[in-house]
Amino acid sequence: MQKMNVYADNAATTRVSREALDAAMPYFTEDFGNAASSHSKGMSAAKAVLDARAKTVAALGAKVGEIYFTSGATESDNWAIMSAAALGEKSGKRHIVTTAIEHHAVLNTCKALEKKGFEVTYLPVGSSGIVDTEDIKNALRDDTCLVSIMLANNEVGTLQPVSQAGALCRERGILFHTDAVQAVGQMKINVDELCADMLSLSGHKFHAMKGVGVLYVRSGTELVSFIHGGEQEKGRRAGTHNVPAIVSLGTAIAQMSKDTDKRSSYIKSLSDRLAHGILHKVPGTHLNGDREKRLAGNVNICFDGVEGESLLMMLDMKGICVSSGSACASGSLEPSHVLTAMGLDRAKARGSIRFSLNEENTGEEIEYILSVLPEIIDKLRHI
Ligand SMILES: *Cc1c(COP(=O)(O)O)cnc(C)c1O
Repeated sequence: MQKMNVYADNAATTRVSREALDAAMPYFTEDFGNAASSHSKGMSAAKAVLDARAKTVAALGAKVGEIYFTSGATESDNWAIMSAAALGEKSGKRHIVTTAIEHHAVLNTCKALEKKGFEVTYLPVGSSGIVDTEDIKNALRDDTCLVSIMLANNEVGTLQPVSQAGALCRERGILFHTDAVQAVGQMKINVDELCADMLSLSGHKFHAMKGVGVLYVRSGTELVSFIHGGEQEKGRRAGTHNVPAIVSLGTAIAQMSKDTDKRSSYIKSLSDRLAHGILHKVPGTHLNGDREKRLAGNVNICFDGVEGESLLMMLDMKGICVSSGSACASGSLEPSHVLTAMGLDRAKARGSIRFSLNEENTGEEIEYILSVLPEIIDKLRHI
């Protein structure tokens, strides 16, 4: 096959959609006002933020007063956890429950709290990459101030029992937060169905701009101010609104909340083709994580006897962008904390690659990947 350019790293970031870009453009150019200004340019910007807020709450089944715009999901995760910890501390509750496979935005915030005397339970996952509801139940204590469990894992795509966890927390009067970043566009997200008190989103994972996110906080839930300054976001997250980015988020989330089932089944048909193709054409491979309870677009494969980072480079030379499950963000060669939590040894964890597809990928691209992969693997195994 002729060389193609295939972007299969949509769990890392996505293209800004034409609609999101078009909607944002006027707020860079004509309507560049500060949303806090009282003149017409300011009012136009403020109206755009209001409109994006309305679209976002509609997509989540939330209410207007329940969302805060942030700089992204790293901030949203930090805020949710730090706020719950500050509130817990007041009543002597210094225990947090989370999972071993959370994003580093959650894990490293918990690590920081451990240094301040909090105790954190990191729930294990089996080879399925899914936490057990019984384990969640058994981990809850009288001094637990927060449970934070992601909706869909970013490396292996596995779906966690979030509504069950939320219901357990509600029964016990414990705050529940979920990082739902990876799910937008591939499954329906409803804050009531998820029983979430707090929920984090990131615009750039669903075709909005980078540097904008959302923290949903159920009304009646106490929330500690995170950034002190002006009156933006009810004074709890001060700082001039990033109007174009917020507008792009509102537009993108509205788009993504339409036809979710249709989009998701198209993406799943592509991932199934890719996964089956690799497992049949390339010996010594297996799919990481549960086969069924996973995001439509995630295909995380372990290639025996292959260095994931080298495979990534070879695929890149063929025009294919993927992510290696082996390297953490810093580029170090530590194996993935998610794959090791699932029981993979160092070599298997380092030999794993994540393809993350979305609705922009095509059947032809899948065929192209399948046409170049066997030869590359063969080469790498004979070096
Ligand atoms: C990307 C990602 C984040 C971080 O989001 P940013 O907006 O890039 O800070 C957090 N959690 C998960 C699961 C992610 O995939």
